[in-house]
Amino acid sequence: MTPVCPFAKAGRPDDASVKKPGEIQGKCPAGYESKPKQESGESARISPKCPFGYDSDTFKLGPFSCMICQALLFDCSKCMPCSHVYCKACISRFKDCPLCGADIEKIEPDTNLQNVVDRFIEGHARIKRSQVNEDKEEVVGQKKTVIYEDVSLERGTFLVQQSMRAFRANNIESAKSRLSLCADDIREQLERIGNTAELCSQLGAVLGMLGDCCRAAGDAASAITYFDESVDFLSKVPKEDLEVTHTLSVSLNKIGDLKYYDGDLQAARSYYFQALEVRRNAIKHHSSVPSQILDVAISLAKVADVDRNLGNEGAAVGGFQEAINLLESLTLSSEETALEQRRLSVLEFLNNQLVNKPPE
Ligand SMILES: [Zn+2]
Ligand SMILES: [Zn+2]
Repeated sequence: MTPVCPFAKAGRPDDASVKKPGEIQGKCPAGYESKPKQESGESARISPKCPFGYDSDTFKLGPFSCMICQALLFDCSKCMPCSHVYCKACISRFKDCPLCGADIEKIEPDTNLQNVVDRFIEGHARIKRSQVNEDKEEVVGQKKTVIYEDVSLERGTFLVQQSMRAFRANNIESAKSRLSLCADDIREQLERIGNTAELCSQLGAVLGMLGDCCRAAGDAASAITYFDESVDFLSKVPKEDLEVTHTLSVSLNKIGDLKYYDGDLQAARSYYFQALEVRRNAIKHHSSVPSQILDVAISLAKVADVDRNLGNEGAAVGGFQEAINLLESLTLSSEETALEQRRLSVLEFLNNQLVNKPPE
């Protein structure tokens, strides 16, 4: 998935020093999920008004979650004869029920339970919709949290978390569905309050994740559409934000990769080059950030590789050499071992490119 959780300032994905995988049970190993909110503010809790009791502190999402993907049920399906319930995509990979071990004779849709899950999402996981515009109190409440067992998350963050769990379990349709709701909600907010940097960067990141879903599902055309749109929104955000420029350049590279695999080298070069420009600009502002310099070197290598495949050997050699010079002048402190390993492996790759020239 795309590197940055759009709702929480998380560490950059390639910054190993900020990652603490597995520290909290169920925490995203890539650091995408936000930490549980401190129960300090009055906004941290929803007052228990829901007739279904979803708001109460004791409410658990467990019965609405799929034990296989650990996310809210999607395409809720019942195993027969044992009646255990999972997402359709999740359970369809099993012959025996993972909960009780019974042979699965057939799988039946459980529309009743799915309706309850969908009502929960509509009422409690989505950012407040614009029909409450006149009601100032409700608009203020749009950052309300979802109480999720002992963790509470902002609504958008919660949907992104659910989608990432589904994505990791390879339930791509579930992930796409949650992200689409999230994107719709952010678009509505954008229409209401205009293109703020926060909303544009959130939408850009969510659209990038939707692109990842389509790519994982083998739908390159839709993936490119989402990545393109992601680039549009991220380009509206001021370029000082490291995370935003990183996400932007990653989305550009992903389009470049898809064009490359499709054999459209000119288009691939154009996107790789745009990513390179974004990264070059970023180091003008943050020249002391080593991971940014690595990013520039990798971008140079991508452009040079396409140049070589296009027959522009002179440009290719120039690009590889520039990347080598950058990495050779980069000195890392002794704590940055992960970065140093990456620097050395990229450097080795680049040097090989100069040694192993393609046949004329
Ligand atoms: Zn599932
Ligand atoms: Zn069972």
